[in-house]
Amino acid sequence: MTSQKILTYIISRKLLNFRRLIEKQNLAKVSRRISSVSIRRIELSKRVNAVNILKHSAENSPYYQKTLPDLIQNLNRKNVFSILRTLPFTTSADVSENSEQFLAVPKSKIVSIHFTYGTTGNKKTIYNSKNDLSRLNYSYVLGFINCGIDSSDIAQMVYSYGVWALASHIQDALRTIEIIVLPTGNYMNFKGQKKFIEEFGTTVIFGTPSYVYNLAKEIDLPEKSKETMKTIMMGGEGLPEHRRKIIEERLGGEVFLNYGLNEFGGGIGSECKAHCGYHIFPSNIVEIINPQTGELIEDGEWGELVLTSLNREAMPLIRYRTGDVSRIITGECECGVKLPRIDYIRGRADDRVIIGAAEKYYPIVFDKLFDSMKEVQDYWIEIIREDERDTMQVYILSKNGSKDLEQKVIDKLYTLDSIKVDIETTKTLNKPQIIIVDKLPNNNIKRRRLVDKRKFKP
Ligand SMILES: [Zn+2]
Repeated sequence: MTSQKILTYIISRKLLNFRRLIEKQNLAKVSRRISSVSIRRIELSKRVNAVNILKHSAENSPYYQKTLPDLIQNLNRKNVFSILRTLPFTTSADVSENSEQFLAVPKSKIVSIHFTYGTTGNKKTIYNSKNDLSRLNYSYVLGFINCGIDSSDIAQMVYSYGVWALASHIQDALRTIEIIVLPTGNYMNFKGQKKFIEEFGTTVIFGTPSYVYNLAKEIDLPEKSKETMKTIMMGGEGLPEHRRKIIEERLGGEVFLNYGLNEFGGGIGSECKAHCGYHIFPSNIVEIINPQTGELIEDGEWGELVLTSLNREAMPLIRYRTGDVSRIITGECECGVKLPRIDYIRGRADDRVIIGAAEKYYPIVFDKLFDSMKEVQDYWIEIIREDERDTMQVYILSKNGSKDLEQKVIDKLYTLDSIKVDIETTKTLNKPQIIIVDKLPNNNIKRRRLVDKRKFKP
């Protein structure tokens, strides 16, 4: 047996031990072991798994068969990371164009598929084998344990039970550690959600930040329910810091954010009790690149997040460009966990819109602006070109539309100096058009709140 095979065997035995402890519900011991894993051991297992996944992809995935075999001829544990950094990127467009070409196992080994649309709206089919689901399940469980969730909890799932399968994957993982799940989804109205929280004594809520934020704003929970609430687990979008405070104040419990990617089956990393970015699970390799040049950038600098999955056999993705903007956080986390960290996602590389005199805006700028206005439930901004200038068409979702509110929104936008200057001084921006609506024109494009509709983009 080669040393690669021996190490692969040892790593799989260690994982098996972890799983046995979880199945015996010995979660405290699992938690202690997570904290005590050394950087060296994480690094070694990553190197071993990276060699295995690159070879597996080169041999079995029709997409990677075209490029990888020549590039990984001299691959070994020592050079695997430096070789990885030279491999071509995989893009979202490659996957949506033909998802099946990424399949690296026979179709008969596929036990589940889910779909993701991303911000471009093109469908990607994601294939999972039995092993993929099992690994995904345990990585979720480890994330839960790291946030202090245990079998005494009652979880309310306010994620959508839709085609992206996240809710059902989380539900399966919760069942593994014997947690009752209330599958209310996001179809029930807020009053209905509140009834469930009160009646069953919900201790954990799982949902997207925007849904949970609206839930927190709309319902008034009795003190008793707030005291019972332990954890709010959220993912799928970013969360401005002030929204975290409002959610914790109004629902009780401690907010934990997760970062996931449907193309990887879900969980990529999660916050720990220190709430300082996401610890990346050992099943992924993270790189940060300059989105324009594709070159790697220094730790600590912001750029596009690129991920390689180390444990997905059905549909491995090598150097996948996520489009999300983040950075590596250097130094040790005060929680003691040695897994590397990335910062909260600042936006999507393709979400950033240049408006007026070359000022770049992420949607989060407007989240902060409108959150402080009680009358504004949500917003949607389209940038169009009129009379040689940019115009912001600002759709405001509100129950009580009035000329007064329109003026308030304009005043609020003027509090951004860059917008005020572009309208009054550089005259590159027209006065914003405010449109009060009872339904947003969101075209089902996920997360995007700021849409560039100009023909010629700056
Ligand atoms: Zn930590």
